[in-house]
Amino acid sequence: MSAKITGLHHVTAIAGPAQRNLDFYAGVLGMRLVKKSVNQDDPATYHLFYADAEGRPGTDLTFFPWQQLAPSRKGVGLSVEVQLAVPEGSLAFWEERLGGYGLKPTTLEVRFGERALPFRDPDGLEVALVETGQREFSPWERSDVPENQQIMGLHGARLWERELYPTATFLTQTLGFEAVGQENGWSRFSLAGGGSGRFLDIKELPNLSRGQWGTGSIHHLAWRVDGTPQELELRTRIAAAGRRPTEQVDRFWFKSVYFMEPGGALFELATDGPGFAVDEDPTRLGESLVLPPWLEPQRATIEAGLPLLHLPSPRGVSLP
Ligand code: ZN
Repeated sequence: MSAKITGLHHVTAIAGPAQRNLDFYAGVLGMRLVKKSVNQDDPATYHLFYADAEGRPGTDLTFFPWQQLAPSRKGVGLSVEVQLAVPEGSLAFWEERLGGYGLKPTTLEVRFGERALPFRDPDGLEVALVETGQREFSPWERSDVPENQQIMGLHGARLWERELYPTATFLTQTLGFEAVGQENGWSRFSLAGGGSGRFLDIKELPNLSRGQWGTGSIHHLAWRVDGTPQELELRTRIAAAGRRPTEQVDRFWFKSVYFMEPGGALFELATDGPGFAVDEDPTRLGESLVLPPWLEPQRATIEAGLPLLHLPSPRGVSLP
C-alpha cells in the first residue's frame, strides 16, 4: 500500500435555512466562511464552507442548506456526529458561549482520554467540541471568538452501523485505517498514526433501522489524499473491494471520488489541492458567490434563485 489517506478532509452536512446556518457557524462558533458557492448538482442550493482562516484541508465543515427537507432520522449507515478540535482548557469558555445563545450543551465527557462537549446545532446536528493539543491551524482575526479559543479544525466523526465487522474490515484492509481501541461501545479507528483530525469512531447497533438524510444530518465524510495519483490508486483498491467508486469528479477546489462504505455511509476521497484560494483573493474568501466555470454562464439565474445572505456582525447574532 503506498497511497495513503492522511485524515479527514471535510465533513458535509445538511442544514435548514442558510442564514441561520451562517449565523451559527460563522457567528456563534466563529469559524471563517471560506467559500460561498452552490451545490454543483443542484445549483439552486447554496454550498457553504466554514474552516480556519486559510481554509486548509482538514478544517472544513460544509453545508447544503436544504430547508425543504424533513429532519433527518438517526439510524445505522449514517455518520451521527462531527467533532471539532478546540484548544486545551477552552471548554469552559465554549460551554458559557453556547449557553449564552440558548444552546444547552450536554455535560462534559471524557472520550478516549480527551475532554469533549457535545451539543446540537440549530438544526439538530450533533457536534462535539474536543480539547486537543497544538495542530496546524490559522486563527481567523475577524472572528468573534478569541484566537486562543477558536475551533482549529475537524477532530473526528462518529458513525453508527448495523454490523461493525464489514466496515471495520474495509477500513483496515482497503483504506489503511488502524483499529486502536474500544470504549463505551465505540470502536476507534485512526489514520496515519492517529491524532486530531484522524479519528473515526463506530458503534454497532444491530437492531436499529437505517438512518435517513435530512436537515441536521451528516451527508458524507471526505478523507484527505495528497493528490490525484494517490486518489486514483486508492480508487482502484476501493473498486477491487467491490465498493463501486465514482470516476474522479472535479470539485474545482479539490478532486473527489465518492463511494459507499459497506454499512451504507457515503464517503469521499478529496485531494489536498488546489484549495480555496484558487479562485478568490485569500483575504476575501467567502465574500462573494463563487461558481465553477461551467455554471458561470447561468450566474444571473442562479443568483436570482438564492436567498440573500449577510455575514453575522459580531455580537449581533440572534438565533431563532
Ligand atoms: Zn464532499
